[in-house]
Amino acid sequence: MKFEDLNLHPTLLKAVKDQNYTHPTAIQEQAIPILLKKNDVLGSAQTGTGKTAAFALPILHHLINERNNNDGKKRIRTLVVTPTRELAIQIAESFTSYSKYNNITNTVIFGGVKQGAQTTTLSNGVDVLVATPGRLLDLMGQGYISLKDIGYFVLDEADRMLDMGFIHDIKKILDKLPKERQSLFFSATMPKNIVELSSQILKFPKQVSVNPVSSTAETIQQFIYYTNKADKKNLLLHILKDKNISQLLLFSRTKHGADRIARNLKKKNIRASAIHGDKSQNQRQKSLKSFKDSEIRVLVATDIAARGIDIDKLSYVLNYDIPNESETYVHRIGRCGRAGETGVSISICEPEENEYVRDIEKLIKQKIQEVQNHPFPQTEKPMNTQQKKEFEKEKQRRKQEFFNNRNKKRGYKKSNNRNNRR
Ligand code: AMP
Repeated sequence: MKFEDLNLHPTLLKAVKDQNYTHPTAIQEQAIPILLKKNDVLGSAQTGTGKTAAFALPILHHLINERNNNDGKKRIRTLVVTPTRELAIQIAESFTSYSKYNNITNTVIFGGVKQGAQTTTLSNGVDVLVATPGRLLDLMGQGYISLKDIGYFVLDEADRMLDMGFIHDIKKILDKLPKERQSLFFSATMPKNIVELSSQILKFPKQVSVNPVSSTAETIQQFIYYTNKADKKNLLLHILKDKNISQLLLFSRTKHGADRIARNLKKKNIRASAIHGDKSQNQRQKSLKSFKDSEIRVLVATDIAARGIDIDKLSYVLNYDIPNESETYVHRIGRCGRAGETGVSISICEPEENEYVRDIEKLIKQKIQEVQNHPFPQTEKPMNTQQKKEFEKEKQRRKQEFFNNRNKKRGYKKSNNRNNRR
Protein backbone atom coordinates (compact mmCIF):
# COMPACT_ATOMS: atom_id res chain seq x y z
CA MET A 1 0.00 0.00 0.00
CA LYS A 2 1.10 3.56 -0.70
CA PHE A 3 0.21 6.72 1.23
CA GLU A 4 -1.69 7.91 -1.86
CA ASP A 5 -4.10 4.97 -1.42
CA LEU A 6 -5.21 6.22 2.00
CA ASN A 7 -7.34 9.14 0.75
CA LEU A 8 -5.62 11.67 2.95
CA HIS A 9 -5.80 15.40 2.19
CA PRO A 10 -3.23 16.39 -0.50
CA THR A 11 -1.44 18.81 1.86
CA LEU A 12 -0.84 15.90 4.24
CA LEU A 13 0.49 13.65 1.48
CA LYS A 14 2.89 16.40 0.48
CA ALA A 15 4.11 16.76 4.09
CA VAL A 16 4.52 12.99 4.44
CA LYS A 17 6.60 12.98 1.28
CA ASP A 18 8.86 15.64 2.79
CA GLN A 19 9.44 13.28 5.70
CA ASN A 20 10.65 10.66 3.19
CA TYR A 21 8.00 8.18 4.26
CA THR A 22 7.39 6.00 1.23
CA HIS A 23 4.92 3.46 2.59
CA PRO A 24 2.59 3.51 5.59
CA THR A 25 3.73 1.34 8.50
CA ALA A 26 1.50 -1.55 9.63
CA ILE A 27 -0.27 0.50 12.31
CA GLN A 28 -0.85 3.35 9.85
CA GLU A 29 -2.23 0.99 7.25
CA GLN A 30 -4.69 -0.42 9.78
CA ALA A 31 -5.66 2.67 11.76
CA ILE A 32 -5.86 5.48 9.20
CA PRO A 33 -8.84 4.11 7.19
CA ILE A 34 -10.77 3.41 10.42
CA LEU A 35 -10.04 6.85 11.81
CA LEU A 36 -10.99 8.56 8.57
CA LYS A 37 -14.41 6.89 8.97
CA LYS A 38 -14.63 8.54 12.41
CA ASN A 39 -14.64 5.28 14.36
CA ASP A 40 -13.03 5.02 17.81
CA VAL A 41 -9.82 3.01 17.95
CA LEU A 42 -8.23 0.83 20.58
CA GLY A 43 -4.63 0.52 19.45
CA SER A 44 -2.09 -1.89 20.79
CA ALA A 45 1.20 -0.55 19.50
CA GLN A 46 4.61 0.28 20.85
CA THR A 47 6.32 3.59 20.32
CA GLY A 48 8.50 3.21 17.24
CA THR A 49 5.83 1.64 15.06
CA GLY A 50 4.77 4.95 13.53
CA LYS A 51 1.70 5.30 15.72
CA THR A 52 1.96 9.09 16.04
CA ALA A 53 1.38 9.56 12.31
CA ALA A 54 -1.30 6.85 12.49
CA PHE A 55 -3.43 9.14 14.65
CA ALA A 56 -2.09 12.60 13.70
CA LEU A 57 -2.70 12.30 9.94
CA PRO A 58 -6.42 11.35 10.04
CA ILE A 59 -7.12 13.91 12.78
CA LEU A 60 -5.45 16.62 10.70
CA HIS A 61 -7.44 15.46 7.69
CA HIS A 62 -10.69 16.00 9.63
CA LEU A 63 -9.53 19.36 10.98
CA ILE A 64 -8.63 20.63 7.50
CA ASN A 65 -12.07 19.66 6.20
CA GLU A 66 -13.80 21.26 9.20
CA ARG A 67 -11.77 24.45 8.78
CA ASN A 68 -13.06 24.75 5.24
CA ASN A 69 -16.65 24.46 6.51
CA ASN A 70 -16.71 26.70 9.56
CA ASP A 71 -16.02 30.30 10.56
CA GLY A 72 -12.26 29.62 10.58
CA LYS A 73 -11.95 30.53 14.28
CA LYS A 74 -9.34 28.63 16.23
CA ARG A 75 -10.62 26.54 19.12
CA ILE A 76 -9.06 23.50 20.73
CA ARG A 77 -10.66 20.69 18.74
CA THR A 78 -8.06 18.00 19.45
CA LEU A 79 -6.55 16.93 22.73
CA VAL A 80 -3.65 14.46 22.94
CA VAL A 81 -2.73 13.39 26.48
CA THR A 82 0.56 11.61 26.95
CA PRO A 83 2.57 10.69 30.06
CA THR A 84 5.97 12.34 29.55
CA ARG A 85 7.20 15.74 28.46
CA GLU A 86 9.55 14.23 25.89
CA LEU A 87 6.77 12.29 24.26
CA ALA A 88 4.50 15.36 24.33
CA ILE A 89 7.16 17.46 22.60
CA GLN A 90 7.74 14.81 19.95
CA ILE A 91 4.04 14.39 19.23
CA ALA A 92 3.65 18.15 18.85
CA GLU A 93 6.67 18.21 16.53
CA SER A 94 5.04 15.51 14.40
CA PHE A 95 1.81 17.54 14.18
CA THR A 96 3.87 20.56 13.14
CA SER A 97 5.67 18.57 10.40
CA TYR A 98 2.46 17.11 9.04
CA SER A 99 0.64 20.49 9.05
CA LYS A 100 3.43 22.15 7.10
CA TYR A 101 1.14 22.84 4.12
CA ASN A 102 -2.06 23.73 5.95
CA ASN A 103 -2.97 26.17 8.69
CA ILE A 104 -3.75 23.75 11.51
CA THR A 105 -1.85 24.87 14.58
CA ASN A 106 -0.77 23.02 17.68
CA THR A 107 0.91 23.64 20.97
CA VAL A 108 2.36 21.54 23.74
CA ILE A 109 2.08 22.00 27.49
CA PHE A 110 3.88 20.14 30.28
CA GLY A 111 4.94 20.75 33.85
CA GLY A 112 8.35 21.56 35.30
CA VAL A 113 8.64 24.87 33.42
CA LYS A 114 7.02 28.28 33.87
CA GLN A 115 3.56 28.49 32.38
CA GLY A 116 3.80 31.99 30.83
CA ALA A 117 4.88 31.00 27.32
CA GLN A 118 2.32 28.18 27.28
CA THR A 119 -0.62 30.37 28.32
CA THR A 120 0.34 33.10 25.81
CA THR A 121 0.24 30.58 22.93
CA LEU A 122 -3.04 29.19 24.23
CA SER A 123 -4.65 32.59 24.36
CA ASN A 124 -3.77 33.12 20.68
CA GLY A 125 -5.87 30.03 19.90
CA VAL A 126 -4.78 26.57 18.72
CA ASP A 127 -6.44 23.63 17.00
CA VAL A 128 -4.45 20.82 18.58
CA LEU A 129 -3.27 20.63 22.18
CA VAL A 130 -0.71 18.05 23.26
CA ALA A 131 -0.43 17.83 27.04
CA THR A 132 0.83 15.92 30.03
CA PRO A 133 -1.99 15.40 32.56
CA GLY A 134 -0.77 17.52 35.51
CA ARG A 135 -0.19 20.78 33.63
CA LEU A 136 -3.37 20.28 31.63
CA LEU A 137 -5.49 20.08 34.79
CA ASP A 138 -3.57 22.98 36.31
CA LEU A 139 -4.24 25.30 33.36
CA MET A 140 -7.85 24.08 33.12
CA GLY A 141 -8.26 24.97 36.79
CA GLN A 142 -6.86 28.45 36.14
CA GLY A 143 -9.31 28.95 33.27
CA TYR A 144 -6.75 29.01 30.42
CA ILE A 145 -8.11 25.86 28.81
CA SER A 146 -11.62 24.69 28.11
CA LEU A 147 -12.26 21.25 26.67
CA LYS A 148 -15.80 22.05 25.51
CA ASP A 149 -14.88 22.10 21.80
CA ILE A 150 -12.90 18.85 21.79
CA GLY A 151 -13.99 16.62 18.93
CA TYR A 152 -10.92 14.35 18.88
CA PHE A 153 -9.31 12.88 21.97
CA VAL A 154 -6.18 10.73 22.05
CA LEU A 155 -4.92 8.97 25.15
CA ASP A 156 -1.39 7.84 24.37
CA GLU A 157 0.79 5.29 26.20
CA ALA A 158 -2.09 4.48 28.53
CA ASP A 159 -0.20 1.69 30.31
CA ARG A 160 2.68 3.98 31.20
CA MET A 161 0.17 6.62 32.27
CA LEU A 162 -1.29 4.24 34.86
CA ASP A 163 2.19 3.08 35.91
CA MET A 164 3.02 6.69 36.65
CA GLY A 165 -0.09 7.06 38.82
CA PHE A 166 -2.08 9.34 36.52
CA ILE A 167 -5.38 7.45 36.81
CA HIS A 168 -7.15 10.12 38.89
CA ASP A 169 -5.93 12.90 36.61
CA ILE A 170 -7.20 11.02 33.57
CA LYS A 171 -10.61 10.54 35.16
CA LYS A 172 -10.82 14.28 35.93
CA ILE A 173 -9.97 15.08 32.31
CA LEU A 174 -12.53 12.58 31.01
CA ASP A 175 -15.24 14.26 33.08
CA LYS A 176 -14.69 17.50 31.21
CA LEU A 177 -14.73 16.08 27.68
CA PRO A 178 -17.82 16.46 25.50
CA LYS A 179 -19.71 13.19 25.02
CA GLU A 180 -19.76 13.61 21.23
CA ARG A 181 -16.21 13.00 20.12
CA GLN A 182 -13.91 10.57 18.38
CA SER A 183 -11.59 8.84 20.84
CA LEU A 184 -8.34 7.00 20.31
CA PHE A 185 -6.65 4.93 22.95
CA PHE A 186 -3.11 3.62 22.55
CA SER A 187 -1.21 1.33 24.85
CA ALA A 188 1.84 -0.88 24.37
CA THR A 189 0.38 -3.51 26.69
CA MET A 190 -3.24 -4.43 27.34
CA PRO A 191 -3.59 -5.73 30.91
CA LYS A 192 -7.08 -5.90 32.47
CA ASN A 193 -7.02 -2.43 34.09
CA ILE A 194 -6.10 -0.85 30.74
CA VAL A 195 -8.92 -2.61 28.91
CA GLU A 196 -11.32 -1.46 31.64
CA LEU A 197 -10.15 2.14 31.33
CA SER A 198 -10.48 2.01 27.55
CA SER A 199 -14.10 0.88 27.88
CA GLN A 200 -14.87 4.09 29.81
CA ILE A 201 -13.46 6.20 26.98
CA LEU A 202 -14.26 4.47 23.70
CA LYS A 203 -17.57 3.82 21.92
CA PHE A 204 -17.77 0.68 19.76
CA PRO A 205 -14.04 0.80 19.12
CA LYS A 206 -12.28 -1.00 16.32
CA GLN A 207 -9.18 -2.75 17.50
CA VAL A 208 -5.83 -2.38 15.76
CA SER A 209 -2.74 -4.15 16.88
CA VAL A 210 0.87 -4.43 15.77
CA ASN A 211 3.92 -5.92 17.42
CA PRO A 212 2.47 -7.18 20.66
CA VAL A 213 4.86 -6.38 23.47
CA SER A 214 6.25 -9.90 23.52
CA SER A 215 7.76 -9.48 20.09
CA THR A 216 11.06 -7.83 19.41
CA ALA A 217 11.69 -6.43 15.95
CA GLU A 218 13.43 -8.89 13.69
CA THR A 219 15.77 -6.11 12.65
CA ILE A 220 17.30 -5.97 16.15
CA GLN A 221 20.23 -8.28 16.91
CA GLN A 222 20.37 -9.14 20.59
CA PHE A 223 23.56 -9.98 22.50
CA ILE A 224 24.25 -10.65 26.16
CA TYR A 225 27.41 -10.59 28.27
CA TYR A 226 27.37 -12.55 31.54
CA THR A 227 29.65 -10.95 34.10
CA ASN A 228 30.02 -10.18 37.83
CA LYS A 229 28.45 -7.11 39.41
CA ALA A 230 31.82 -5.53 40.20
CA ASP A 231 33.03 -6.01 36.61
CA LYS A 232 30.14 -4.25 34.86
CA LYS A 233 31.94 -0.91 34.80
CA ASN A 234 35.03 -2.30 33.08
CA LEU A 235 33.01 -4.49 30.75
CA LEU A 236 31.15 -1.39 29.55
CA LEU A 237 34.48 0.32 28.78
CA HIS A 238 35.57 -2.82 26.95
CA ILE A 239 32.38 -2.81 24.86
CA LEU A 240 32.83 0.88 24.05
CA LYS A 241 36.22 0.14 22.47
CA ASP A 242 34.16 -0.81 19.44
CA LYS A 243 34.28 2.34 17.34
CA ASN A 244 31.15 1.26 15.43
CA ILE A 245 29.19 2.23 18.52
CA SER A 246 29.11 5.93 17.80
CA GLN A 247 25.78 6.57 19.52
CA LEU A 248 24.59 4.43 22.44
CA LEU A 249 21.44 4.68 24.50
CA LEU A 250 22.26 3.05 27.83
CA PHE A 251 19.53 2.06 30.30
CA SER A 252 19.99 2.16 34.04
CA ARG A 253 17.37 1.01 36.53
CA THR A 254 17.95 3.86 38.98
CA LYS A 255 18.57 7.60 38.81
CA HIS A 256 21.66 7.34 41.02
CA GLY A 257 22.94 4.50 38.87
CA ALA A 258 22.45 6.64 35.75
CA ASP A 259 24.42 9.53 37.25
CA ARG A 260 27.20 7.19 38.42
CA ILE A 261 27.56 5.52 35.02
CA ALA A 262 27.69 8.87 33.19
CA ARG A 263 30.27 10.15 35.70
CA ASN A 264 32.47 7.06 35.27
CA LEU A 265 32.36 7.33 31.50
CA LYS A 266 33.27 11.01 31.57
CA LYS A 267 36.26 10.19 33.79
CA LYS A 268 37.46 7.93 30.97
CA ASN A 269 36.95 10.73 28.42
CA ILE A 270 33.84 9.17 26.90
CA ARG A 271 31.29 11.87 26.19
CA ALA A 272 28.20 10.94 28.20
CA SER A 273 25.20 12.50 29.86
CA ALA A 274 22.40 11.20 32.09
CA ILE A 275 18.68 11.93 31.87
CA HIS A 276 16.15 11.01 34.53
CA GLY A 277 13.30 12.41 36.57
CA ASP A 278 15.52 14.52 38.83
CA LYS A 279 16.97 16.49 35.91
CA SER A 280 15.23 19.70 34.91
CA GLN A 281 13.33 19.88 31.65
CA ASN A 282 16.08 22.10 30.22
CA GLN A 283 18.84 19.72 31.21
CA ARG A 284 16.99 16.80 29.66
CA GLN A 285 16.33 18.62 26.41
CA LYS A 286 19.95 19.77 26.26
CA SER A 287 21.26 16.22 26.75
CA LEU A 288 18.87 14.83 24.20
CA LYS A 289 19.85 17.45 21.64
CA SER A 290 23.58 16.85 22.23
CA PHE A 291 22.97 13.14 21.75
CA LYS A 292 20.97 13.62 18.56
CA ASP A 293 23.66 16.02 17.26
CA SER A 294 26.33 13.39 18.12
CA GLU A 295 28.06 15.74 20.56
CA ILE A 296 27.82 13.05 23.21
CA ARG A 297 28.35 9.37 22.54
CA VAL A 298 26.44 7.75 25.41
CA LEU A 299 23.07 8.86 26.71
CA VAL A 300 22.34 7.17 30.04
CA ALA A 301 18.62 7.04 30.80
CA THR A 302 16.16 5.56 33.24
CA ASP A 303 13.15 3.78 31.74
CA ILE A 304 10.67 6.57 32.36
CA ALA A 305 12.95 9.31 31.04
CA ALA A 306 13.71 7.27 27.93
CA ARG A 307 10.13 6.40 27.17
CA GLY A 308 9.46 9.39 24.95
CA ILE A 309 12.77 9.46 23.20
CA ASP A 310 12.70 9.06 19.47
CA ILE A 311 16.11 9.10 17.88
CA ASP A 312 16.27 8.63 14.16
CA LYS A 313 18.52 5.77 13.12
CA LEU A 314 19.60 4.83 16.64
CA SER A 315 21.58 1.61 16.20
CA TYR A 316 22.77 0.64 19.69
CA VAL A 317 20.94 0.14 22.96
CA LEU A 318 22.63 -1.24 26.08
CA ASN A 319 20.98 -2.69 29.18
CA TYR A 320 23.40 -1.99 32.01
CA ASP A 321 21.07 -4.01 34.18
CA ILE A 322 18.49 -6.62 33.26
CA PRO A 323 14.97 -5.40 34.00
CA ASN A 324 12.95 -7.66 36.27
CA GLU A 325 9.87 -6.96 34.16
CA SER A 326 10.40 -8.68 30.84
CA GLU A 327 8.16 -6.20 29.00
CA THR A 328 10.54 -3.42 29.98
CA TYR A 329 13.32 -5.23 28.10
CA VAL A 330 11.16 -5.30 24.97
CA HIS A 331 10.40 -1.58 25.31
CA ARG A 332 14.04 -0.73 25.88
CA ILE A 333 15.44 -2.54 22.89
CA GLY A 334 12.58 -1.20 20.76
CA ARG A 335 14.28 2.20 20.95
CA CYS A 336 16.68 1.07 18.23
CA GLY A 337 16.03 -0.59 14.89
CA ARG A 338 12.95 1.55 14.37
CA ALA A 339 10.95 2.02 11.18
CA GLY A 340 12.78 -0.81 9.43
CA GLU A 341 16.36 0.24 10.32
CA THR A 342 18.70 -2.35 11.84
CA GLY A 343 19.68 -2.21 15.49
CA VAL A 344 21.84 -3.96 18.06
CA SER A 345 20.89 -4.54 21.66
CA ILE A 346 23.58 -5.41 24.19
CA SER A 347 22.78 -6.58 27.71
CA ILE A 348 25.10 -6.94 30.66
CA CYS A 349 23.99 -9.51 33.20
CA GLU A 350 25.26 -10.06 36.73
CA PRO A 351 24.53 -13.35 38.58
CA GLU A 352 21.51 -11.96 40.45
CA GLU A 353 19.89 -11.11 37.13
CA ASN A 354 20.32 -14.51 35.47
CA GLU A 355 16.73 -15.48 36.30
CA TYR A 356 15.38 -12.28 34.69
CA VAL A 357 17.09 -13.29 31.44
CA ARG A 358 15.28 -16.65 31.54
CA ASP A 359 11.95 -14.79 31.93
CA ILE A 360 12.76 -12.45 29.04
CA GLU A 361 13.73 -15.33 26.78
CA LYS A 362 10.44 -17.02 27.60
CA LEU A 363 8.50 -13.86 26.72
CA ILE A 364 10.30 -13.14 23.45
CA LYS A 365 10.43 -16.85 22.60
CA GLN A 366 14.06 -16.74 21.60
CA LYS A 367 17.47 -17.14 23.17
CA ILE A 368 19.59 -14.01 23.42
CA GLN A 369 22.96 -14.66 21.83
CA GLU A 370 25.71 -14.90 24.45
CA VAL A 371 29.05 -13.19 23.83
CA GLN A 372 31.47 -15.70 25.31
CA ASN A 373 34.94 -14.40 24.60
CA HIS A 374 35.35 -11.35 26.78
CA PRO A 375 37.73 -10.43 29.60
CA PHE A 376 35.17 -10.31 32.44
CA PRO A 377 33.23 -13.60 32.46
CA GLN A 378 30.71 -14.41 35.16
CA THR A 379 32.44 -16.46 37.84
CA GLU A 380 30.18 -15.83 40.83
CA LYS A 381 27.01 -17.76 41.58
CA PRO A 382 23.62 -16.18 42.24
CA MET A 383 22.81 -16.01 45.94
CA ASN A 384 20.71 -18.75 47.54
CA THR A 385 17.54 -17.85 49.47
CA GLN A 386 19.31 -17.48 52.82
CA GLN A 387 22.04 -15.27 51.34
CA LYS A 388 19.41 -13.16 49.57
CA LYS A 389 17.54 -12.63 52.86
CA GLU A 390 20.72 -11.55 54.62
CA PHE A 391 21.66 -9.31 51.73
CA GLU A 392 18.25 -7.58 51.82
CA LYS A 393 18.50 -7.19 55.60
CA GLU A 394 21.93 -5.60 55.28
CA LYS A 395 20.67 -3.32 52.51
CA GLN A 396 17.79 -2.15 54.71
CA ARG A 397 20.17 -1.59 57.62
CA ARG A 398 22.48 0.53 55.47
CA LYS A 399 19.57 2.51 54.08
CA GLN A 400 18.31 3.23 57.57
CA GLU A 401 21.81 4.20 58.66
CA PHE A 402 22.06 6.59 55.69
CA PHE A 403 18.73 8.27 56.56
CA ASN A 404 19.60 8.47 60.25
CA ASN A 405 22.93 10.13 59.49
CA ARG A 406 21.33 12.52 57.04
CA ASN A 407 18.62 13.45 59.48
CA LYS A 408 21.18 13.94 62.24
CA LYS A 409 23.10 16.32 59.96
CA ARG A 410 19.92 18.23 59.25
CA GLY A 411 19.19 18.42 62.95
CA TYR A 412 15.97 16.36 62.87
CA LYS A 413 14.90 14.67 66.06
CA LYS A 414 14.02 11.00 65.74
CA SER A 415 10.57 11.41 67.27
CA ASN A 416 9.35 14.15 64.94
CA ASN A 417 11.11 13.35 61.70
CA ARG A 418 7.89 13.20 59.80
CA ASN A 419 6.58 16.55 60.88
CA ASN A 420 9.87 18.17 60.09
CA ARG A 421 9.94 16.80 56.62
CA ARG A 422 6.55 18.19 55.67
P1 AMP B 1 6.39 6.69 16.48
O1 AMP B 1 6.01 5.27 16.70
O2 AMP B 1 5.21 7.52 16.14
O3 AMP B 1 7.18 7.24 17.62
O4 AMP B 1 7.33 6.75 15.15
C1 AMP B 1 8.61 6.23 15.11
C2 AMP B 1 9.45 6.79 13.98
O5 AMP B 1 9.00 6.31 12.71
C3 AMP B 1 9.44 8.32 13.87
O6 AMP B 1 10.78 8.74 13.73
C4 AMP B 1 8.66 8.61 12.60
O7 AMP B 1 9.14 9.78 11.98
C5 AMP B 1 8.94 7.37 11.76
N1 AMP B 1 7.86 7.04 10.83
C6 AMP B 1 6.54 7.15 11.02
N2 AMP B 1 5.85 6.73 9.96
C7 AMP B 1 6.75 6.32 9.04
C8 AMP B 1 6.66 5.77 7.72
N3 AMP B 1 5.49 5.54 7.15
N4 AMP B 1 7.81 5.48 7.08
C9 AMP B 1 9.01 5.71 7.68
N5 AMP B 1 9.17 6.22 8.90
C10 AMP B 1 8.06 6.52 9.60
